[in-house]
Amino acid sequence: MKLPGLIDPHVHMREPGAAHKEDWDSGTAAALAGGFTAVLAMPNTSPPVTGAETLDLALQAAGKKARCDYAQYLGAGPQIPDGLDDLARRSAGLKMYLDQTYGPLRLDEMTLWMAHFERWPHDRPIVAHAESRTLAAVILLAGLYDRPVHLAHVSLKEEILLIRKAKERGLKVTCEVAPHHLLLSTEDLPHLGQGRGEVRPRLASPEDRKALWENLAYIDCFATDHAPHTAAEKDSENPPPGFPGLETALPLLLSAVHEGRLSLEDVVLRMHTNPRQIFGLPEQPDTWIEVDEEAEWEIRGQEMLSRSAWTPFEGWKVRGRVQRVVLRGQEVYRDGQVLAPPGYGRNLRDDLAI
Ligand SMILES: [Zn+2]
Repeated sequence: MKLPGLIDPHVHMREPGAAHKEDWDSGTAAALAGGFTAVLAMPNTSPPVTGAETLDLALQAAGKKARCDYAQYLGAGPQIPDGLDDLARRSAGLKMYLDQTYGPLRLDEMTLWMAHFERWPHDRPIVAHAESRTLAAVILLAGLYDRPVHLAHVSLKEEILLIRKAKERGLKVTCEVAPHHLLLSTEDLPHLGQGRGEVRPRLASPEDRKALWENLAYIDCFATDHAPHTAAEKDSENPPPGFPGLETALPLLLSAVHEGRLSLEDVVLRMHTNPRQIFGLPEQPDTWIEVDEEAEWEIRGQEMLSRSAWTPFEGWKVRGRVQRVVLRGQEVYRDGQVLAPPGYGRNLRDDLAI
């Protein structure tokens, strides 16, 4: 079965600053293995990407190492950086961290949120990490400033119901849900263990998970929020939050298709068509993936290309496997082997790239 190249609008590459967890090479190899031909990378690296210098630093690493296409987010900081319009043109979008997260980018003052909403060009995406009541505040700002906002990793019933209402009122909000919030809940925490169950937003109740499925029509994208940490870090005294997800998302969702919980069209719309449209990404010519939708296999963290080498879906039996990926006319992945060299990936925000 042939599908379009998948686009993940939410991944953490960990470079610069924590290449032992993941870098642009291992992260984009994992992306290709999972059927993704484009990834949008989050800015909570070390140093965080908040201005021209750090954006250049991240893009240099990506330019040298990325094996699939990409764009890099800019993080909203306490100041509005110089040359904002140019930064907006060169980045995937503006990421605003408004709730507890991994890294130093959390913005607490609502006056700052307002400044970013006012100044960030209206034709470029803003993505907000906003949970519960914070999400209600961000939806209000989207209405007040009459501009589009994409809400990251929605996990709660109250959140998806608010988004539903906002959409019904014609507000310009879109949202994404991660496969782990669709498929796991607090009931899974005992067997995952405390450290391995740590993720932001946290795994929610079975009732929250059910509400996401019931409101599938209001979910625009499935995004992995691929947030790799090593197994040793997850099992330590102070486990950092985050799950890897690039290599498990499509097989998990295709298994849901097999079980009749989703249609294939639901998946393609949320993993290709909508992310491309919401983020204004160019078409990748001669690009597709080939999937054996009947292949049954068992997820094993040790077999993943992500440097994190563990997964909260360890031992899950899934149906559907990526066999081959073609990116811009070149075979870049086949039967477990990544064939694209580091540096093959192009920056989707570079006008000359495609
Ligand atoms: Zn994230």
